[in-house]
Amino acid sequence: MSSQIDHLLTETRRFAPPAAFAAAAVGTAELYERAAADREGFWADQARELHWHTPFTQTLDWSNPPFAKWFDDGELNVAYNCLDRHVEAGNGDRVALLWEGEPGDDRRVTYAELTDEVKRVANVLTELGIEAGDRVAIYMPMIPEAVAAMLAVARVGAVHSVVFGGFSADSLRTRIDDAGAKLVITADGGYRKGKVSPLKPAVDQALADRGSGPQQSVEHVLVVRRGGNDIEWTDGRDLWWHEVVPAASAEHEAQPFPAENPLFILYTSGTTGKPKGILHTSGGYLTQAAFTNRVVHDLHPETDVYWCTADIGWVTGHSYVTYGPLANGATQVLYEGTPDTPHPGRSWEIIQKYGVTIYYTAPTAIRSFMKVGRQVPAEFDLSSIRLLGSVGEPINPEAWMWYRSVLGGGEAPIVDTWWQTETGAIMISALPGVTEAKPGSAQVALPGISIDVVDENGGPVGEGNGGLLVITEPWPSMLRGIWGDPDRFVETYWAKFDSQGYYFAGDGARLDDDGDIWLMGRVDDVMNVSGHRLSTTEIESALVGNEAVAEAAVVGAADEATGQAVVAFCVIKQSYMTKHEELDGLVGELRAWVAQQIGAIARPRDVYLVTELPKTRSGKIMRRLLRDVAEGREVGDTTTLADTMVMSTISGQVTKK
Ligand code: ATP
Ligand code: MG
Repeated sequence: MSSQIDHLLTETRRFAPPAAFAAAAVGTAELYERAAADREGFWADQARELHWHTPFTQTLDWSNPPFAKWFDDGELNVAYNCLDRHVEAGNGDRVALLWEGEPGDDRRVTYAELTDEVKRVANVLTELGIEAGDRVAIYMPMIPEAVAAMLAVARVGAVHSVVFGGFSADSLRTRIDDAGAKLVITADGGYRKGKVSPLKPAVDQALADRGSGPQQSVEHVLVVRRGGNDIEWTDGRDLWWHEVVPAASAEHEAQPFPAENPLFILYTSGTTGKPKGILHTSGGYLTQAAFTNRVVHDLHPETDVYWCTADIGWVTGHSYVTYGPLANGATQVLYEGTPDTPHPGRSWEIIQKYGVTIYYTAPTAIRSFMKVGRQVPAEFDLSSIRLLGSVGEPINPEAWMWYRSVLGGGEAPIVDTWWQTETGAIMISALPGVTEAKPGSAQVALPGISIDVVDENGGPVGEGNGGLLVITEPWPSMLRGIWGDPDRFVETYWAKFDSQGYYFAGDGARLDDDGDIWLMGRVDDVMNVSGHRLSTTEIESALVGNEAVAEAAVVGAADEATGQAVVAFCVIKQSYMTKHEELDGLVGELRAWVAQQIGAIARPRDVYLVTELPKTRSGKIMRRLLRDVAEGREVGDTTTLADTMVMSTISGQVTKK
């Protein structure tokens, strides 16, 4: 089967960075030149921005691919880099976290205060017998203690496995068992959607009654009081944070650990199947997380107020809430709740309150803001925003334009950042002060990163063509493996282009005539219609470009005439529904619209109007479930769905037609 992907969408808009922005930008064109001249030397320079207890002498050891070692003989302490060194440099009074609780309570935590807290927690961990290499599960709401918990685990050289607070007891149990965690750090509950969502009961359930399951590895549960909800207590096992942490000593000297000391295990979002436990280590990970946060987000730590909306349960929350910004000494907003609670303008209220200058969120959030309408953000002063970022899915040009005009005052550069849990940090993105932006394109590999788009045999497709996205050289924050499953690691990412030694990302992409990269969706989702290979992204972008459509998902369904046929699922905008009582005829209009926008070959055979799309907990569309519906099969594994009811709703809406 050919791996070429046909290209239908034409996007000609271009936006240069404002001159003043470009003049003061952190990331410059010289970075590309330096990295091109000496890639490893370039990364060694970036690594030296960190504090090394023992400087490294070797940059990359790639003698046993695909198992890389970066800065292997160096020693550092990740938490020291995120905390103590800022305090020692005289910046202890700088605010690290501008925390906002969902009900509206708030706290400011300075670097000195966060350092003090983390030292105490580190002492508690040691008292509880946690040593370097031990695993600690973290199952918490978005509160300052969650960040402190991650850093304290890192400080003692242990390994955290953060499990998203919205996951069930079952998912938590699997992750605790997979890692063999000795300690769970949690909270009684946290605020979500206007009420307390309990967490501790799920921990109790996960640890209760193992039946014939693996032996209990968990010795203690450390509990932060946040929700105030009633919880059960197991004496001897459970400890209140507010009892043990303030009582612990605030003296704690950070010990050095090898650069390749494991830092965390984190499970992928589960968009395409069973989540994989990705392992990251210390020196290379922190180097690339900090570097990309500086140059891609154009971070000026003295003046910026940065807000990345990701939950710490996702990799974006690891690299761009906890590690990158704190390593850089940034001041950032940390928000506990959902963006529409208690009112649809909650996010804009927070931006106005704290004067947020850099805002980093996901296309799914942007599309949900669009669905509600621009009159909501218009009520707030968003003029402090000077840079916008997007991550998680391709951002449709229509959403990109809305983002720039409504939130960015028609001027703020947008960085569309492509990366994965596995890559640890951003890999493809514009540098906002350098790159002329194209709506919908992630654009170029960052300095020091080598990306290509290839055919099934690993040959470059060249400019103007689509194919498979690969990473051709090792990078500092690359995954070091899948926890406990080295064979799956090799099989999943390296086997496909074994002879070239390329990392296969699983995404389709296209190079345009300027060499810019356009992500085309998952390779598994590419459709084959009468011999044409069509990407989900372009057809979805065309649909979202119609005034009626808020969100769209496209899948290929078996078809006798064409091999596969395009089937689209569309969520209609509220504003459109209030204007039009009847939606009769819209289906036909949308089919014609796609044909007119991007070509007859892409015209959907079926368009279903639905009220919701199936999404992972991290907000990504799960097309494989829609394919099951489109082909009339029983719906597959739904355990990573945010809302387990959504598939029966959709099935109902499809069959009713
Ligand atoms: P799983 O691997 O378990 O199926 P997942 O791939 O959704 O889950 P993540 O690591 O959270 O887990 O997501 C990485 C994927 O998200 C990328 O492979 C890509 O498909 C998509 N992605 C992330 N950022 C972008 C972006 N800026 N543009 C296009 N796609 C993106
Ligand atoms: Mg993936």
